[in-house]
Amino acid sequence: MSLLNPVWTSLLYLVAAVFFILALRGLSSPRTARRGNLIGALGALIGVVTVFLSAQLDNVPWILGAIVVGSAVAAPVARGVKMTQMPQLVAAFNGVGGGAAALVALLELSHAGDPWVRLAIVFTLLIGAVSFAGSGVTFAKLQELMTTRPVVFRGLPVVMAAVLLAAVAAAVVVVFTGSLPLALLLLVLGLAAGILLVLPVGGADVPIVISLLNAFTGLAVAASGVVLGNVLLVVAGTLVGASGTILTRAMAAAMGRSVAGILFGAFRGGSTAGSTAVSERPVRSSSAEDVAVLLGYAQRVIIVPGYGLAVAQGQHTAAELALALESRGIEVDFAIHPVAGRMPGHMNVLLAEANVPYESLKEMGEINPEFKTADVALVVGANDVVNPAAKTSSGSPIYGMPILEVADARQVVFLKRSMRPGFAGIENDLLYEPQTSLLFGDAKDSLAQVLGAVKAL
Ligand code: NDP
Repeated sequence: MSLLNPVWTSLLYLVAAVFFILALRGLSSPRTARRGNLIGALGALIGVVTVFLSAQLDNVPWILGAIVVGSAVAAPVARGVKMTQMPQLVAAFNGVGGGAAALVALLELSHAGDPWVRLAIVFTLLIGAVSFAGSGVTFAKLQELMTTRPVVFRGLPVVMAAVLLAAVAAAVVVVFTGSLPLALLLLVLGLAAGILLVLPVGGADVPIVISLLNAFTGLAVAASGVVLGNVLLVVAGTLVGASGTILTRAMAAAMGRSVAGILFGAFRGGSTAGSTAVSERPVRSSSAEDVAVLLGYAQRVIIVPGYGLAVAQGQHTAAELALALESRGIEVDFAIHPVAGRMPGHMNVLLAEANVPYESLKEMGEINPEFKTADVALVVGANDVVNPAAKTSSGSPIYGMPILEVADARQVVFLKRSMRPGFAGIENDLLYEPQTSLLFGDAKDSLAQVLGAVKAL
């Protein structure tokens, strides 16, 4: 017997849906994101508890067991994950969501007499499987378990087209007959499509494809809501689908890319080239004292943070260095590239942690014209986001991505550990330019040494 009548159930679902919308609103700004996240979690809790109180559930011990096991795995993983590994975690959780929706749809097939419900089932099955397998490949790329570069092979478009055609054919038969073997085939075809979809995506496009797969999972979950007759799942899935689509488009626009170009660009051969070889050309290496003199006697310094700053956890030292320079009357800004680091907003979060004021963080469009007036661009653990190959080398995996125009500054200083390339695996010619110098070492150590030397000036 259910403890809640349908009116209370609908009301609680409405409250949960409102919480989800408020959560999205909170997540739209770094200042309110933490609160937004909590509100979203509360909405999810209300939704789950309402299901238990209102529905006639079978297999309750199994459900509770699954919740305990899932929580026991996910909570320590989420608590222990390093900030730099957050995108992998998002990819993994996203994939699990899509996979769960697909499994629910498969199990519901035996009860579905109505072809319209079976239509929702095949949709959930296909999109959920694509999202699960695509997220798995993205996880492997981000975790560097496989190459981060686009992977294409001869005939890939033909194989992809064949898989999609077969999937459509299987889906049609399942809608009309409810055949379980063909539904299983559809699941396998969906998994294959997910892998084939993401393999050719590489370099700077990976973050965008995570967001796209997130939108896919949202759609799969919304369709599973139709299958189960659960309005809250439809609402939550639609919100994830819509917000994921908006984020995908916004990120693609910020990167000067089209979504089709991201998914299929590598087929044209455009974004597969580029070299991982490290060149033998000479570079100008500097000491911390040299860098301190450059910075300490400048009028305008722009700091460009990147993934390496997050790895080194040098954000507090970077913030201290900015303060030390400002106390000498030097104007200091931080230039934020939309895909610097390994997740959207990574640099904003990192620098907020070190209490760098928001006014000092300048977005790419705003800061780019100002590099011309800067005496020094201090590039701390960034590489791809300042690599001029994005403008000049049509064969490069980052070609077309807007970059921070650090080359316009009078002097460019890179803090990095070696001559290794960044995420996209391509060389950066700027490292060899006459106005560039390099301070080798861990970013946090180098920043601390430079800070010490600036204070001693
Ligand atoms: P990159 O990955 O291009 O470069 C990072 C640089 O940091 C490297 O040059 C590396 O050189 C250096 N580095 C690493 N560890 C340290 C350390 N401890 N101390 C000092 N330096 C260090 O980073 P960017 O931020 O410039 O670019 C981000 C890239 O990641 C883009 O290609 C983007 O597309 C991709 N990406 C972004 C996502 C996002 O949402 N923001 C998600 C997924 C990928 P060395 O090893 O020599 O020290």
